Amino acid sequence: MGDDNSITQAARISYGNHTKEKSESENRTLIRYLLRHSHTTPFEMAEIKLLVRAPMDCWRQWIRHRTANVNEYSTRYSEAINSFDTTPPNEWRHQSKSNKQGSEHGEFLSLTDGNKLSESESKFHEIAETLYEIRLEAGVAREQARKDLPLSTYTEAYWKCDLHNIFNFLRLRMDKHAQKEIREYAEVIGKEIVAKLFPVCWEAFEDYILDAVKFTAFDIALMQTFFDAYGTKISEKEFEAITKSLQNTNNREVAEALDKFKTIGFVRA
Ligand SMILES: Cc1cc2nc3c(=O)[nH]c(=O)nc-3n(C[C@H](O)[C@H](O)[C@H](O)COP(=O)(O)OP(=O)(O)OC[C@H]3O[C@@H](n4cnc5c(N)ncnc54)[C@H](O)[C@@H]3O)c2cc1C
Repeated sequence: MGDDNSITQAARISYGNHTKEKSESENRTLIRYLLRHSHTTPFEMAEIKLLVRAPMDCWRQWIRHRTANVNEYSTRYSEAINSFDTTPPNEWRHQSKSNKQGSEHGEFLSLTDGNKLSESESKFHEIAETLYEIRLEAGVAREQARKDLPLSTYTEAYWKCDLHNIFNFLRLRMDKHAQKEIREYAEVIGKEIVAKLFPVCWEAFEDYILDAVKFTAFDIALMQTFFDAYGTKISEKEFEAITKSLQNTNNREVAEALDKFKTIGFVRA
């Protein structure tokens, strides 16, 4: 529901001229101003409704976004969707060493191990499916028969969300720290749907949120220390030399600062 103009029209009620036609360029300037300054309620005046089909492990993360309206397929009413999310042999990811929640970017188990894992996955799916069917055939209620279905089974839902909260969803789920599986959904929702329906808002979202870098007071103090010491861009070694000499620093915070400094080219990658 709505388009870029729904946002500018709602915002202009503040000064009473929401019915007056404005040029594209005036609308674009206003949208960019609103997003830059977190005037978020006008972005709640547009929304999208999607029919989503996702594996349960991914859905479990998705449903944490409480500001969406959801109506989901019920495996009490209906038999569970007979489909499993499968992993090809070359896509089993290593556990990340630096991030307890994540996987190592671009690092996969060997194909020999991957083949074994995909084969055992397929057998397990067959067992889970058979067990479920046996229970249903024996007359067990669907609400109870489902209890051992794996997280790789799919669910379907209508998911309706306003643009402000979609941007929050996309900011979190398109981020590199989000799990690959939900990130792939978020990329499609963002780039294929939201960007096409709300091109001006999307451009502002990319510029001010998605591709923006937020500096903490700690980051700024670090940057000032580097400027005082070197007066120019620094190498990773120089970054480490200075941060090691600082007291009471948090390793994680230092690593996050390094990541940001690399993004802006202040520390040479
Ligand atoms: C990389 C990553 C890792 C995560 N790891 C974990 C984890 O280990 N464990 C875990 O439990 N969750 C985890 N989460 C989920 C996370 O904590 C949020 O619950 C989820 O991302 C939804 O975000 P949200 O609250 O901003 O969105 P929404 O629920 O859509 O809320 C949007 C905004 O609305 C407001 N809001 C909504 N509901 C309320 C309310 N009831 N009261 C007050 N304000 C409200 C808040 O300001 C909120 O920021 C993770 C998320 C990410 C992206």
